[in-house]
Amino acid sequence: MLSFTRRAELAAGQRPSAIVLGCSDSRVPAEIVFDQGLGDLFVIRVAGNVVAPSQVGSVEFAAERYGTRLVVVMGHSQCGAILATLEELQHPSERRSRNLRSIVDRVRPAVEGLLATGLAHDALVREAVRANVRIAAHRLRHGSEILERLIHEDGLLVVGAEYALETGEVDFFDGVPETAA
Ligand SMILES: [Zn+2]
Repeated sequence: MLSFTRRAELAAGQRPSAIVLGCSDSRVPAEIVFDQGLGDLFVIRVAGNVVAPSQVGSVEFAAERYGTRLVVVMGHSQCGAILATLEELQHPSERRSRNLRSIVDRVRPAVEGLLATGLAHDALVREAVRANVRIAAHRLRHGSEILERLIHEDGLLVVGAEYALETGEVDFFDGVPETAA
């Protein structure tokens, strides 16, 4: 239960301990997954946890303004955006909206390379979820001068994780420093 004092403190300012870029999927709310309360996480949610300029800007904003030094890109099993992209690549459709296409296009590189491997559907989806997280984390690490500077000079860490809908476990599999692994 949130105390009145805590709420009053937060009205005056925030100091979130992590920035989470996650999927909009109703089964993956970052605060619930990590058992956090008001003021604890700066959360950006978008279908497929893709990185477009507004996501990079949101991460830059929180890292600079609030001093947050941990960014978690969190994908999840059975991600609808991955499934939709896979479907689109296997059966291209003219009818998909331009807006939706902007998400599919950002997920596409994660799926495309795997299609040629001959993996079965479930394994393909599993690998694509992880590849999509790796790509998003890479885009955050290298797609912004501000973030690049914070990484090199001020200890900003960008890690990739996968939440398993089936077990509730979060596996941090990308960018975790050796000593902390
Ligand atoms: Zn998803």
